[in-house]
Amino acid sequence: MLNKLKTPIHIIGGGLAGSEASWQIAQLGIPVVLHEMRPKRKSDAHKTDKLAELVCSNSFRSDDASKNAVGLLHAEMRLAKSLIMKAADSNKVPAGGALAVDRNEFSKTITETLEKHPLITIQRREIHEIPEDWHNVIVATGPLTSPKFAQEIQAITGTEALSFFDALAPIIYTESINMNICWYQSRYDKIGPEGTGKDYLNCPLNQEQYKIFVQALISGEKVEFREFENISYFDGCLPIEVMAERGFETLRYGPMKPMGLTNTHHPTIKPYAVIQLRQDNKLGTLYNMVGFQTKLKYSEQTRIFRMIPGLEKAEFARLGGLHRNTYLNSPILLDESLRLKQKPQLRFAGQITGCEGYIESAAIGLLAGRFAAADYNRTCPSLPPKTTAFGALLNHITGGHIATNETGKRSFQPMNINFGLFPPIISTNPLEKSLPHKEKKQAIIERALNDCIQWLKNSF
Ligand SMILES: Cc1cc2nc3c(=O)[nH]c(=O)nc-3n(C[C@H](O)[C@H](O)[C@H](O)COP(=O)(O)OP(=O)(O)OC[C@H]3O[C@@H](n4cnc5c(N)ncnc54)[C@H](O)[C@@H]3O)c2cc1C
Repeated sequence: MLNKLKTPIHIIGGGLAGSEASWQIAQLGIPVVLHEMRPKRKSDAHKTDKLAELVCSNSFRSDDASKNAVGLLHAEMRLAKSLIMKAADSNKVPAGGALAVDRNEFSKTITETLEKHPLITIQRREIHEIPEDWHNVIVATGPLTSPKFAQEIQAITGTEALSFFDALAPIIYTESINMNICWYQSRYDKIGPEGTGKDYLNCPLNQEQYKIFVQALISGEKVEFREFENISYFDGCLPIEVMAERGFETLRYGPMKPMGLTNTHHPTIKPYAVIQLRQDNKLGTLYNMVGFQTKLKYSEQTRIFRMIPGLEKAEFARLGGLHRNTYLNSPILLDESLRLKQKPQLRFAGQITGCEGYIESAAIGLLAGRFAAADYNRTCPSLPPKTTAFGALLNHITGGHIATNETGKRSFQPMNINFGLFPPIISTNPLEKSLPHKEKKQAIIERALNDCIQWLKNSF
């Protein structure tokens, strides 16, 4: 009770991230006020008054830490004593290798645990503005941040800083691209401000391949928009299949333009159409399909995009999409401990920072909570190594992203955890250029878990 009288840390939003952040802070002996607008004000997707409500699927995806990046993140969360993981583990339902939960019991467990915690006060109200006398704040209002508060965030960060929709192009692991077919070249060999003239990977199509591809896009199964998403397309972000429907040649004048490109494998044969892939992370382990935002179903995307020459065996780190999502241009706005550079008393957490998914949002909540607690204690926040799933995800949000859009501006898109975000493992054997794919994954996982254990041991 005495501790509650100390100035608390304020957390806005009691979703996956805000709940985890509250728990982490309170477990470190620091008082928290958690502000949640439901049930007084509903979002377009939430249905209950419970904290950490799962708005759609009841799955946290694969729980296999020996094979999967998301399973590895689960393991690291458990090591860091995550409340979200504890509640998920105690409310599991059978789902093969996935961690799926009874959604009502899961949210009920979290709500009751936080309500009972002596250092946590829960206030049910919508925050419109951040009071000047709140000196340590975490904003975790999620992809459906209330419109009034989104205006406040825009006023603080600038109008260009907040996006309201994802127009996601698929992202491919570089090592799965067939370099006997693709080649490096920027259009017209343009070097640009920081380029080399060879910044893009190009996939060539002849007329017949183009025709079959366009037909596949038109006939492919699409995901319907939810009522509240009600997106009216603007021309800069038309889904690829909508462009295909507008006419046979439309894509050749848009994202599949063949101009200014010469296939180095067959310099005398002019491709009829070209798909360009652009480097998506500093490490060069990921490439995105330029202009390929889509509402095709995931299974259809994999099938249709593997028809593209050079991408027959493509492995996707993320598939394309187009949906409502409020998120910040974090690599520019946030420092490495998730604080707003221009107003360091504000920290952001969860999906609003540009991660994607329940568990990723909770993981960023966990980190934000630990960082806010360090500020509270006037110590330096201990950042997780980039070799851990925590660190790889944090680095994607605050620093690792270099992709630019067509106008040369840096573009930042939300992402799930995936192995492409981790620094590569370099083989110690000089005769081996790099380890085989399976061994590489194993080595990344082992390194991540060891480094995570060390990090947790050495911080707090
Ligand atoms: C429709 C939809 C479906 C999704 N489906 C999935 C899925 O199936 N699987 C998956 O892994 N991810 C899914 N996601 C992505 C995402 O990971 C989840 O939305 C996740 O809940 C994000 O966690 P969060 O804590 O950042 O935000 P949320 O869990 O949304 O929490 C934010 C909280 O802030 C509150 N809030 C908002 N504004 C205010 C305010 N001004 N004052 C006070 N409180 C406020 C909200 O009521 C909410 O409780 C989906 C997203 C959406 C939008």
